[in-house]
Amino acid sequence: RQHMARGLPKQKPVAGVKQVIVVASGKGGVGKSTTAVNLALGISANDQTKSVGLLDADVFGPSIPKLMNLKGNPELTEKNLMRPLMNFGIPCMSMGFLVEETAPIVWRGLMVMSAIEKLLRQVDWGHLDYLVVDMPPGTGDVQLTITQNIPVAGAVIVSTPQDIALLDARRGAEMFRKVNVPVLGLVQNMSVFQCPKCQHQTHIFGADGARELARTLGVDVLGDIPLHLNIREMSDRGQPVVVSSPDSPEAEAYRNVASAV
Ligand code: ADP
Repeated sequence: RQHMARGLPKQKPVAGVKQVIVVASGKGGVGKSTTAVNLALGISANDQTKSVGLLDADVFGPSIPKLMNLKGNPELTEKNLMRPLMNFGIPCMSMGFLVEETAPIVWRGLMVMSAIEKLLRQVDWGHLDYLVVDMPPGTGDVQLTITQNIPVAGAVIVSTPQDIALLDARRGAEMFRKVNVPVLGLVQNMSVFQCPKCQHQTHIFGADGARELARTLGVDVLGDIPLHLNIREMSDRGQPVVVSSPDSPEAEAYRNVASAV
């Protein structure tokens, strides 16, 4: 905290990238990665002239390879940069492309920092209007490293409406404020489940928690994503709903978040 009070170290933009948007959450399992993927695809679906990339900064538990149905090692360019792997028109980079899927990733602070640096900068991103970064959950060193080393245009915070998730989401929002990253808003995920048989709606994790938190923090709600079987099933198959079921209400919900960003 001391060194932060003395001002941020010099930030250096990522070559070729206009705007970095980080997708964060206070805790794991709230749908952050699923949102990051569908947000990237949503931005590109809403405006096909925009080029969008995806960086998986969750070096401990990378999920982008599976969600984007990508596997394998990046090739090296003549300049010795890694070429991102590409699917659905989105160039992606993830620690999951560099280590075995089942290998336990046990490493220490400094190694994590240099890994993040490599995933950000030793990559031939080409020209991107947006680089969407799937952050690890929580408010740790990785989040600080990223926000201190690159100019971040804004943070999107994903939370369920449940108290415990909201508490952590609040911590996340406060961290971004401390490091002068604008919080673009909250995405409330899994707020409503509609029974596919009788259409009855149930608020499994509560109804409006994230909306209330957004109000107290003075930030926007970028959208509500329903708890939907299609989202889980398609994500598990590496077919994100924005591309696999573009006409569904759940895909529309993600595109709405993308246009609010
Ligand atoms: P996080 O990145 O926060 O750990 P994930 O995006 O990996 O969370 O999501 C955790 C699990 O919840 C995954 O199996 C994902 O498919 C599922 N999931 C996320 N959002 C939804 C949703 N709105 N409806 C149904 N399942 C969801």
